[in-house]
Amino acid sequence: MTGDRDQGRARAHRAALFRQEHLPMQPLWLCRRCGQPWPCGAAKLALAAEYRDSPVSLFLYLASCLHDAIDDLHRVDTNEAGGAASLFDRFLGWPARTHAYRVNTATAIGNEETS
Ligand SMILES: [Zn+2]
Repeated sequence: MTGDRDQGRARAHRAALFRQEHLPMQPLWLCRRCGQPWPCGAAKLALAAEYRDSPVSLFLYLASCLHDAIDDLHRVDTNEAGGAASLFDRFLGWPARTHAYRVNTATAIGNEETS
């Protein structure tokens, strides 16, 4: 299937662009490219696109980033990171608010109810 191959190639290209550009700079957890707290807006867009079909994997990835960020930011003792609740929202709050995740959740609940 050419369409599947093209979609896979496009997804790999987006992932490569993301990896080259909007990555976290540890231990400060700022974006290497734009200097915003990571995940920055561009990183969120790239992550949402990359994990569009597997939101659970996105949450697992971001949870591991949050774990590392808490360790790193505690070690460097920066006041800019905010508290634990702020960090939790920064890493895990945004994907829960995205439209794509809500649709997938609603579909999953609908499937559970009909089975
Ligand atoms: Zn960025």
